[in-house]
Amino acid sequence: MNVGDNILKVRETIPEGVELVAVSKFHPNEAIMEAYEVGQRVFGESRATELKYKAVALPEDIQWHFIGHLQTNKVRMIMPFVSLIHSVDSERLLRLIDAEAARINKIVDVLLQVHVAQEETKFGFTPDELLQFVESGLIDELTNVRVVGVMGMATNTDDVNRITEDFKAINQTFKNARALLKENADFAHISMGMSDDYQLAIDNGSTMVRIGSTIFGYRQY
Ligand SMILES: *Cc1c(COP(=O)(O)O)cnc(C)c1O
Repeated sequence: MNVGDNILKVRETIPEGVELVAVSKFHPNEAIMEAYEVGQRVFGESRATELKYKAVALPEDIQWHFIGHLQTNKVRMIMPFVSLIHSVDSERLLRLIDAEAARINKIVDVLLQVHVAQEETKFGFTPDELLQFVESGLIDELTNVRVVGVMGMATNTDDVNRITEDFKAINQTFKNARALLKENADFAHISMGMSDDYQLAIDNGSTMVRIGSTIFGYRQY
């Protein structure tokens, strides 16, 4: 598995304006450095402790994205290291992120996670909940968080139509939220698409893809 070559190949398939988040969870620092050597600077992690240890050990110009479910008791641990949190799924979590960012005098970017997939156990706001949340005006009250868009996942299936419908629903939720937030120019990103479905995601408006196994190989849990 040549991580550097894989990154370069994946990049050729991603249009300009779409950000590649290299999902390095469960992979060692050496693999991350191979990606770093070919210019990759944005990495995604899904566990707080792992993100912290990697961030402490690896170059400071890496931008760490948190992409997994974030427990409130882990917010403080990642706050000094994280540049974008993809997975904000409750008002309580968002308020806490704002408070922890303020505590260390930092501005942090977040995405609101929207849940459209046909799975019971996934996190996120439904499209209706997300719009209600945006309408509530809370986002304007935050001092240390910039809400820069939405993140979502398609149903875990081989059914291309189902996946396409899910991506369209995420995109529509983004557009509806942006219409409500028209004063907020920061709200511009749709994080969707993983190794198996990122082309479909890009075709349906993704601005940020989160790609792990295509770059780093299979994860050993
Ligand atoms: C692990 C993970 C990815 C990457 O998945 P791959 O299929 O390995 O590309 C993307 N997004 C989230 C939220 C993940 O947890």
